[in-house]
Amino acid sequence: MCGALRASDAGKKVVLMGWVNRRRDLGALIFVDVRDRSGVTQVVFSGERNAAVHQKGELLRNEFVIAVIGTVKLRDSDTINKNIPTGEVELVADELRILNEAKHPPFLPGDTALANEEMRLKYRYIDLRRDAMQFNIELRHKVALAIRDYLASQGFFEIETPFMTRSTPEGARDYLVPSRVQPGTFYALPQSPQLFKQILMISGFDKYFQIVRCFRDEDLRADRQPEFTQIDLEMSYPQPERVWETVEGFLTAAFRAAGHEIKTPFPRMDYDEAIRQFGIDKPDLRLPAFTEVRDCFTPEDLEQLAINQDLPVLAIRIPGVGELSRKERDDLKPLFISKGGARIFEDFKRIESKFAGASTKIRQKSGAAPEDLIVLVVGSAQSGKDDHPAQKRKVTPAELAIYASAGLMRVALGQKYAAKHGLFKRGDYRFLWVTNFPMFEYDEADKRWVAAHHPFTSPHDEDMDKLESDPAMVRALAYDVVLNGTELGSGSIRIHRQDIQRRIFHALGMTEEEAKSRFGFFLEALEYGTPPHGGIALGLDRVVMILAGADSLREVIPFPKTAAAKDLMVDAPTPVTDAQLRDLGIGVVKKQS
Ligand code: ASP
Repeated sequence: MCGALRASDAGKKVVLMGWVNRRRDLGALIFVDVRDRSGVTQVVFSGERNAAVHQKGELLRNEFVIAVIGTVKLRDSDTINKNIPTGEVELVADELRILNEAKHPPFLPGDTALANEEMRLKYRYIDLRRDAMQFNIELRHKVALAIRDYLASQGFFEIETPFMTRSTPEGARDYLVPSRVQPGTFYALPQSPQLFKQILMISGFDKYFQIVRCFRDEDLRADRQPEFTQIDLEMSYPQPERVWETVEGFLTAAFRAAGHEIKTPFPRMDYDEAIRQFGIDKPDLRLPAFTEVRDCFTPEDLEQLAINQDLPVLAIRIPGVGELSRKERDDLKPLFISKGGARIFEDFKRIESKFAGASTKIRQKSGAAPEDLIVLVVGSAQSGKDDHPAQKRKVTPAELAIYASAGLMRVALGQKYAAKHGLFKRGDYRFLWVTNFPMFEYDEADKRWVAAHHPFTSPHDEDMDKLESDPAMVRALAYDVVLNGTELGSGSIRIHRQDIQRRIFHALGMTEEEAKSRFGFFLEALEYGTPPHGGIALGLDRVVMILAGADSLREVIPFPKTAAAKDLMVDAPTPVTDAQLRDLGIGVVKKQS
């Protein structure tokens, strides 16, 4: 093991096998750093000591694979390398075998400057040799193993579910697999094992988990991959708290495996409260919450500023940003995404000069230090008068628009001024459970209610009677686990009664026939003695990404896809032969662009 040699090994005869990481030829002495998964050791080829082996050492080039037999020697004190664990020793070569040569690679694993990402993905096998990637993949292994161990210790079975299946309703497009045996029919790759895990509860396996690949054909963003890995679990007879405890347990184990202790239980917050305080359902608790500052203004102030008196007036505070120049303030404007007529006051100085009373109160109420940035987000005078089907909700749609606009701005400012506020410290993990989501969302385009989660999510018992009469007010027994502004996972208590499942499909505007043709097998299974059950799924890739301090999922997935869903190494997807298509009974139609 190249990374394992220590001073105490001095005098031992050892064999090292690995890659040539770096070679320095000083004439009589050749130094070669040999690398494997465990690290590097410096090997010395000395012409004086062994002319034949020194001569062979001259042939070595970067990334050759070699075996060296030699004697471990303590380095002279002035050549000790404190930066590597093997820095006190070197191996003096007695014998060298070149196991394989290597073409000069497009970039070297030891390069300090990173190659561009396309190159890295095309030559992924070289990229994976880099220290950082070796670390990330090992971390991923340790985290997955800790999760498996923990869940097994709690009586969960890991049970596999099919990849070739029917479409499941997670809301994205399916990847389809054509059937050759039954031409014209298709399997779908699962968006998640949702229905299978529910069926496993019906089958009597009361604690299931699986670290499982899921497939969703979505337009990709930085933090999405067409195939990704979930930590998926389901249990029978749980209260939500049992699911939360289980998740807290395996996350504790996973974070411990990565060297971090986390505090449980995680705080919990209702969806409505998350919106009121943070304007988003995945709040980053490292930044201050909003302060509602409507009461800091007089009614005359509000009128003069054309601020809507019936909607929230929110102060976003970002600590330690300091004074902004005119240009810097102008740069903030494009960050603001206005919903429902929301407006921004990014020039708090102006408020201070014209509305001194209000600004003093705002500073006080929000606890702002002089160097803190304050930005106000308000409703414009004309907004908020619509007649929306969700008007009776605790947070009305007009209010939601203001909160949401402010929520996005808060996140954008937090990112922009990360260096100044210094609140995004590595290792500061703020978890949160967000609960009691609305069951339905109103689709403005289609003028109908759609499921906010997947349609197997149970409504709150107390809200059951409003399913038909007042869908806006029905809350779901759904929960998300959030970490530092990232949604790690979501889950719910499920519907276990067939009659209620039918009512939900109906409330979602699905006819009896539609429901039957899509989920008939599942509706039938529900009729054969289904225990109450619930579960959750968390993104493993995201957990590892956060633990690795990486800024893209691609850094923690061995063979990821690009934003265009391509695998650059194997060059997929590709066209297939006419014969293959014929076999499948498929013709390819060119898409009109
Ligand atoms: N199947 C859901 C998802 O993948 C998670 C769950 O409800 O367990 O989003």
